[in-house]
Amino acid sequence: MTAYTKPLPRPTDVDNAPYWLAARNGVLECQCCGHCGRFRFPAAPICPFCRSRGARWKALSGRGVVESFCRFHKAYWPAFAADLPYLVVQVRLDEGVRLYSNLIDVPDDQVRIGLQVEASFEAVTTDVTLVKFRLAAPAGA
Ligand SMILES: [Zn+2]
Repeated sequence: MTAYTKPLPRPTDVDNAPYWLAARNGVLECQCCGHCGRFRFPAAPICPFCRSRGARWKALSGRGVVESFCRFHKAYWPAFAADLPYLVVQVRLDEGVRLYSNLIDVPDDQVRIGLQVEASFEAVTTDVTLVKFRLAAPAGA
């Protein structure tokens, strides 16, 4: 593994540590409210829907659709300069939560809103595995 120079999350933050631990194990997990049962992302101590405290972490399907995307032509962080231009996608997962990430193995000119995608896990350091997305396998495959 080469040195990763892009910004990294801090997986030791109390609220988000379970997310990063699950990602390291190839599982996409989010908090699920113990009161109303809705998933939320990013992790937070209070449910944004019912304002209850308490949540449990649950695995998600990892499947969703590209809801939006944009192409970056400027490197706001020097380590991204070599990637320009690059796409950032907003994925709405089947469980309703939205993540911002990148697509892998999808040519930029084939990216469109509504594209069915699934989570893919990229270990960038020994501690951090990023959740990215690739084209979804057909249902039942
Ligand atoms: Zn709730």
